[in-house]
Amino acid sequence: MISNGLPPSPLPEQGGNLGSLRSQAVTGAPILRTRGLTKRFGGLVAVSDVSLDLHVGEVHVVIGPNGAGKSTLTNLLSGDLPPTAGEVMLEGRDIAGLSSDQISRMGVGRSYQKTNIFLPFTVFENARLAAQSRTPHALRVFSQAEGYAEINQRAQAALAAAGLEHRAQRIAATLSHGEQRQLEIAMCLATQPRVLLLDEPLAGMGPHESQRMVELIKKLSADHAIMLIEHDMDAVFALAHRLTVMVNGEVLESGTPAEVRSSPAVQLAYLGGEELLHD
Ligand code: ADP
Ligand code: MG
Repeated sequence: MISNGLPPSPLPEQGGNLGSLRSQAVTGAPILRTRGLTKRFGGLVAVSDVSLDLHVGEVHVVIGPNGAGKSTLTNLLSGDLPPTAGEVMLEGRDIAGLSSDQISRMGVGRSYQKTNIFLPFTVFENARLAAQSRTPHALRVFSQAEGYAEINQRAQAALAAAGLEHRAQRIAATLSHGEQRQLEIAMCLATQPRVLLLDEPLAGMGPHESQRMVELIKKLSADHAIMLIEHDMDAVFALAHRLTVMVNGEVLESGTPAEVRSSPAVQLAYLGGEELLHD
């Protein structure tokens, strides 16, 4: 869903209490940073020399047209794809090329653009599987009663954080689309990440569900570093502390939302197109 109806002010009203969130934003060392990150698929450079920082307490939104390389960038950060070149530094350690399991255990969680839920299982079972899958010595821990308790507790806490506690015993297939996306976030939280990579979490949602997800992401940003891929401009400007525009695999512009909106390069790129960044 793409909304072009931006209010004239640099930041839209529905930013709500964003002022307080922004003032809490950490400006120290990034928890995750990329430098020169590049991914080639044969002759196609899907991600080209991308440098980007993620800070705990901030939502860094990445926008750009279909095919710009946003999902590929997410895959490089999560370890679902190895980069062709460049660095991915997590708290000072280069994690480029590590497996997705390794990177997940180091505190980088992601949701997928397509849903990743076990539909015949209950909501709680889904969260518990996610919690269990990210436990380093899953089998050993799982054989102990306290291991069960720890995993159950983590699953419960993740459901509560994602606003799904009241749905714990429902079969996942019976949830609404919006609740399934919330469950995906809960499954991500069950792995206890500090970095959250969210690829189009509002896709296919109605206005009410979108608003709920925006509130959830806002809440999670207080104690996570979030990279959010999103098309809905109202949500983008309600959430973004930092905004990066990608086109053809490259970073066209990156900065505060106000800086990006006033960038001539960005305005030119969107002229005649969807005019995403115009009032
Ligand atoms: P976005 O998420 O911004 O829409 P993607 O990252 O999905 O863009 O895709 C960027 C480009 O890389 C597209 O041209 C896409 O076709 C291509 N691409 C993505 N994944 C693969 C892959 N596994 N193999 C080959 N080409 C790919
Ligand atoms: Mg994509």
